[in-house]
This record gives sequence, structure tokens and C-alpha cells, in this order.
Amino acid sequence: MRFTEEQTALRDSLRRMTNEQIKPIAGEVDDNDRFPVEWKKLFGEMGLLQMWVPEEYGGPGGDLVSVCIAKEETARGSLAASTLVCNNSIGLILPVMHFGTEAQKEKYLRLSASGQVVAAVAMTEPQAGSDVAGMKTRAVRQADGSYVVNGMKNWITWGEVADYVLLFAKTGDGPAHENISAFLVDTKTPGFRVGRKERKMGRNGAPNNELYFENMVLPSDALVGEEGKGFTACMRILDLNRPTIGASALGLAQEAFELSVAYCKERKAFGKSIGQFQGMQFKLADMAMKLEAARQMLYGICEEIDAGDYSRLQTIASMSKCYVTDVAMEVTTEAVQIFGGNGYSKEYPLERMMRDAKVLQIIEGTNEIHRMVIGRNLVR
Ligand SMILES: Cc1cc2nc3c(=O)[nH]c(=O)nc-3n(C[C@H](O)[C@H](O)[C@H](O)COP(=O)(O)OP(=O)(O)OC[C@H]3O[C@@H](n4cnc5c(N)ncnc54)[C@H](O)[C@@H]3O)c2cc1C
Repeated sequence: MRFTEEQTALRDSLRRMTNEQIKPIAGEVDDNDRFPVEWKKLFGEMGLLQMWVPEEYGGPGGDLVSVCIAKEETARGSLAASTLVCNNSIGLILPVMHFGTEAQKEKYLRLSASGQVVAAVAMTEPQAGSDVAGMKTRAVRQADGSYVVNGMKNWITWGEVADYVLLFAKTGDGPAHENISAFLVDTKTPGFRVGRKERKMGRNGAPNNELYFENMVLPSDALVGEEGKGFTACMRILDLNRPTIGASALGLAQEAFELSVAYCKERKAFGKSIGQFQGMQFKLADMAMKLEAARQMLYGICEEIDAGDYSRLQTIASMSKCYVTDVAMEVTTEAVQIFGGNGYSKEYPLERMMRDAKVLQIIEGTNEIHRMVIGRNLVR
């Protein structure tokens, strides 16, 4: 697809920003696994935390194509940075936009528009990852309409720095689509506690934590959407957000590919540049074809969703996430190979990109689950 003039300008300015502000410290953020406060401040000032908040609530608005451009460009520097960009979309902005009351929109969309809050999404539990319905965290409604929540979540991105958490909890027994509810939790609420931080392979700088909810009392207006309908709502939100995971993957892969082409031209072996060897050219050709297919697919799907056509939403959302993240894993792995020993060295960014690409095949529904969704819809 062709970007509009505005989208092209956004891409170009973000590419400059990534080169100047993200790439120089990306390796250090990864090495120290530290939350990059300077990026949070910068992205808030640039409007990158609040993309998608409608103008009527003080936000910049934004379409899926633009959000994906932001995700892609920043991922060229760091996956942690790209994760932070538009991070609040699934934790605050999309659920409130689609399922919130007018009062919730006024409060949370305006807060998001300030660019100063970070939201997390808490669904996963130790025994309930792909099988979300297996969650044990419970919210019990009291006579006055408030809820008492008990349970724990793990792997929650931004857990230790989040101001708000979109929490999924059981409010009844029986099928998930009738018994899981969504709540917006202010992390200053008594009974909320941050637990262990995960030590992980990649995407360092974007912390993951256990979260505990111990006799935590939530007011009735913390509920988002109808009681018991949180599961269905969350699936819709995740579908709307899924192409953005593909966009981060595309940015990682594009950067790894461009670095590989440059390296093939400059690195010498047996008296010539390694780019002269057919074995290397075949690798580059395969990477280029996969990237081209992934790019056309991703932005084509974004265009369809932006046009308001949700008739194939579930299938194409799964395709955009699954295919592009698989391509990113393949391309970054080949890039490490092209760089030889240097690809394996922390002096170069390739090994970080390969480690980072891996997580994108696991989060927001594993790629096995997405193949299952696509396949199921094909034979329905
Ligand atoms: C870095 C990181 C960040 C994360 N951030 C968050 C977050 O912010 N919020 C949150 O709630 N969660 C988060 N998660 C959790 C993530 O969503 C889960 O790890 C993911 O859904 C997979 O669940 P699981 O780890 O329990 O794997 P499991 O569900 O146990 O799956 C194990 C394996 O079995 C396969 N499998 C499972 N069921 C099927 C099936 N029916 N058919 C075929 N294969 C199947 C899976 O594909 C996988 O390969 C994060 C995870 C990571 C690693």
C-alpha cells in the first residue's frame, strides 16, 4: 500500500527520532534490563503513548496504519521502545473507547491523552495462558455493588511501573464468555501488590511481573462493559490490536535485513565481499521476499480494518500477527548467520533482535493458537 503524505511524514520523523534517541541506548537498556524512563517522557511529549485517543477527549486520534508505522519505526531501534509506543491501547484506550461508559471515557481517555500514564493488561495466570478460561482470580460482587478481588497474575508487561491495570477476573462459574469480567484497577488501590520480576531471554527494558490482588476492593464503576462479558470484549480488543504486534515484528526484521545487506557489501572473505557469494545472495533474496509479503499483508489488513470492515477481523488479525512474527523470527535468525561470529556478539545488535523476535511468536496468543483460529474459521 502507499502511505498518505501525513503517514509518510510520520514515518520519516520517527525514523530520525529512532536513530537519534533510541538506537544509541538500546543495547544498554537491554543489558541492564532497565525501564527506559527517558523514552516514556519523550514518547508522552511526542504523542506516541496516546495515539488512538479520539480528538474529542484531547488525544491526537490516529488510525491503525499510523499506529503500525509508529510501532514499526521504533522497533527498528528497540523492541522495548516499540512495546511502549501506543502501549496503553489495550490496557486503557481501546477497552474504554469500545466498552466504557461516558464517565469512564471522560476519565480514562483524558488521562491517556496526557501522555503520562502507563497501563498494563492482566490476563495470564500460572495455570492459564493460552487457556484463558482456566483463570482463578475472582471478583465477588458485594451488596453495595463493589467487588472484592483475590488472585494473582503473572508475566504482566509493565506490571511494576503501571498506573492502571486492566484486570480480567472470574465473576461467576461456567463458560468463559459469560463469567469473566474486566476491571480497571488503579495500582494505588490497597490490596494491589507487585511480585517477582521475570528474568527473560529478550524484550528487556519492558518489565514483566507477577501481580497480586489480596482482598482488594474495587468500586462498581471499575467494571468495564457488562459483568461477565469481559472475555468476549477482550477478544475483540486483542483482535483490533494484533496487527500492531506484527508491525513491531516488521520493524525488527526490516532493520536486521538492511544491516545484513550492508554487511554483505562490506565484509570480505576469500578476497571478495561476502555479498558476491551466491549462498549469501540467496539468503538476502529470501529475506527480501518474506519482508515484502509481510509488509503488503500487514498494511493491507490495517487498511481494511481502518475502513471499518470487521467482517474478517478475527481471521485477518490472527494472520497479521502470526505470519509477520514468523517472518521476523526467520529474518533475524538469518541475519545472525550472515554476520557470522559478529552476529553472535553483543557488540552488534543482531543477537538482541533475534532474542527479541522470539517473544512475538508467543505473546498475544501463541502462533499455534492463531493457526488454530484461522483454520477453525476456514472450515466453519
Ligand atoms: C514477554 C512476555 C510478555 C507477556 N505479557 C503479558 C501481559 O502483559 N499480560 C498477560 O496477561 N500475559 C502476558 N504474557 C503471557 C502470554 O500471553 C502467555 O505466555 C501466552 O499466552 C502463552 O501462554 P503460556 O505461556 O501459559 O503457554 P501455554 O498456554 O502453556 O502453551 C504452551 C505451548 O502449548 C501450545 N498450545 C497451547 N494450547 C494449544 C492448542 N489448543 N493447540 C495447539 N497448541 C497449543 C502453545 O502454543 C505453546 O507452544 C506475556 C508473556 C511473555 C513471555
